[in-house]
Amino acid sequence: MSLELQGVSAGYGAGDVLHEISLDVRPGEVVVILGANGAGKTTLMRAVSGVIPRRGRILFEGKDISRTGPEQIVRLGLAQVPQGRGTFVDLTVEENLRTGALSRRDSARVNEDLDRWYTTYPRLAERRRQKAGLLSGGEQQMLAVSRAMMSRPRLLLCDEPSLGLSPRLTQELFASLRSINEEWDMSMLIVEQNAAIALGIATRGYLLEVGTIARAGSADELSDSDAVRAAYLGY
Ligand code: ATP
Repeated sequence: MSLELQGVSAGYGAGDVLHEISLDVRPGEVVVILGANGAGKTTLMRAVSGVIPRRGRILFEGKDISRTGPEQIVRLGLAQVPQGRGTFVDLTVEENLRTGALSRRDSARVNEDLDRWYTTYPRLAERRRQKAGLLSGGEQQMLAVSRAMMSRPRLLLCDEPSLGLSPRLTQELFASLRSINEEWDMSMLIVEQNAAIALGIATRGYLLEVGTIARAGSADELSDSDAVRAAYLGY
């Protein structure tokens, strides 16, 4: 198993937002978490990446990371594309990419990886010396994905990658997530409100409602489910 959550609860002090969540991501799978505003999707990502305290068990490749801090979790091979892009706006594009590789010692291969992401996203190459804050929303999202990939993760967490993007850029971004999944056999856990597009690249999914898993199934099962259709697909 790439990632396994067993009865995970978490919140912000005033009470739990997540109640005993159990889910898993198998190697090479793209798993999507669907849910309305406030369902707890971002909180779930924060619990996995170690930025908020959580109870229950979280296993990454069989290793218990329930009490591991966020930096160590990245070092273990689990990287996050945070919501709202989370790039360092005052650093250049290249400096942002290099922050993704801070835990790596293989500097020659870091440079190779930089070139690789510049080839994948030529718009980043053209703007490599510009401050990230000057990039468009779509470019910042590409930067956030590439930066996470610069740590050479084995599991990528993406929190609402489509947020603030036009439909065309959302399509482009999901197409590139799909190719990252295929080329690198990258396991992914994606939180997304845009159910149609996320289910289009997902293997499986979970529906989160007020902090609990209301439904789980293959991408096809969820697309066919009346509950998902009515609430998230609009038909
Ligand atoms: P959205 O799609 O709107 O981002 P979400 O499913 O990601 O929603 P969360 O951001 O996880 O939902 O929020 C779940 C609940 O936790 C909400 O009721 C929210 O008000 C609360 N919450 C989120 N962040 C904090 C925080 N830093 N402090 C206190 N409460 C928070």
